Amino acid sequence: MKTFGYAAHTAKAPLAPYTFERRAVGEHDIAIEIKYCGICHSDIHFVRDEWGAQKYPCVPGHEIAGIVTQVGSKVTKHKVGDAVGVGCMVDSCRHCSSCESGQENYCLNGSTMTYGGKEKDGSITQGGYSSAIVVSQDFALKIPKNLPLDAAAPLLCAGITLYSPLSHWKAGPGKKVAIIGLGGLGHMGVKIAHAMGADVTVLSHSLKKKEEGMKMGANAFYATSDAETFTKLRGQFDLIINTVSAELDWNMYLSLLKLDGTMVVLGLPEKAIPVSAFSLIIGRKSLSGSVIGGIKETQEMLDFCGKHNITCDIELIPVTKINEAYERVVKSDVRYRFVIDMKTLQS
Ligand code: NAP
Ligand code: ZN
Ligand code: ZN
Repeated sequence: MKTFGYAAHTAKAPLAPYTFERRAVGEHDIAIEIKYCGICHSDIHFVRDEWGAQKYPCVPGHEIAGIVTQVGSKVTKHKVGDAVGVGCMVDSCRHCSSCESGQENYCLNGSTMTYGGKEKDGSITQGGYSSAIVVSQDFALKIPKNLPLDAAAPLLCAGITLYSPLSHWKAGPGKKVAIIGLGGLGHMGVKIAHAMGADVTVLSHSLKKKEEGMKMGANAFYATSDAETFTKLRGQFDLIINTVSAELDWNMYLSLLKLDGTMVVLGLPEKAIPVSAFSLIIGRKSLSGSVIGGIKETQEMLDFCGKHNITCDIELIPVTKINEAYERVVKSDVRYRFVIDMKTLQS
């Protein structure tokens, strides 16, 4: 299937138009006309080669929302005309203990990522900054009818990446949760944790986004550039979720946890960050990490967002503005997710 998209052709070059082939729709596959795709900070890390050698050209994008246009002969889960989404994975081994427990994101044989991943036939996957995608029916999610497709697209990565740890560590009434970084991931964290009933604090590098953060459901908002913040909030939180893509001193943030509290790392800075044993043993604290969520849990998140009317705050852009958007994401200058309108893609 001839597909139009935007690709990085090398690590340093701006993204540019690219035409490529998608596989034909197999028995268990569906074809999706992509309407919208979010820009995740991971797309930028990836195409700029910050996580190690990539294969080019690479079409990024794993916050995909669109409409089913074709279904294979054995497809039972979706039908032509359905609003569906595709997130960070398009396949997994399907038989390891993680896959069997619905945690394909932790597939022991490595899940197949939506772009830059290797399909079972050896081909390299290409992502959602494109006109269409062909995926297994099992890796497509149903988008609730009450959610607009453009603002729902980022739920497929930013939404599930926050929902999964918030649900795993039981954010809810009586729990104090802090979210570090009010970006694409962070703002979803505030909305979801608030809807789960937790008391939510935002730790942002300045107070510039305070008014918006409070409207999203935060109970408190602090600037981490102010040393007083760390004195004032010492020992306060049950759960801290760190969404920051830059290097921070994690030891300072661990000091904000209560006895038995957990800090979960989601952001992926380029360099390793040293943690002192003292930051963990004093207060029996845990430092953990989490990556997206399983397919069943992603559907649960979408249904939760449908029920609570949660979507992302987006800036809708034409494809020609992708490179400009990348620069603005790196400067934390986005409110709060860029979403590409695919009808602006020229064939
Ligand atoms: P984003 O929109 O750029 O948000 C990151 C936020 O971090 C910014 O809005 C900013 O918030 C804060 N920040 C950025 N630079 C900072 C600095 N130098 N010092 C302090 N704070 C800074 O990015 P995103 O799309 O949410 O992604 C965040 C990170 O999560 C990326 O590294 C991405 O690769 C990773 N990620 C992980 C997963 C996973 O499954 N674990 C999934 C998706 C993405 P404030 O302005 O409020 O300080
Ligand atoms: Zn992402
Ligand atoms: Zn597996």
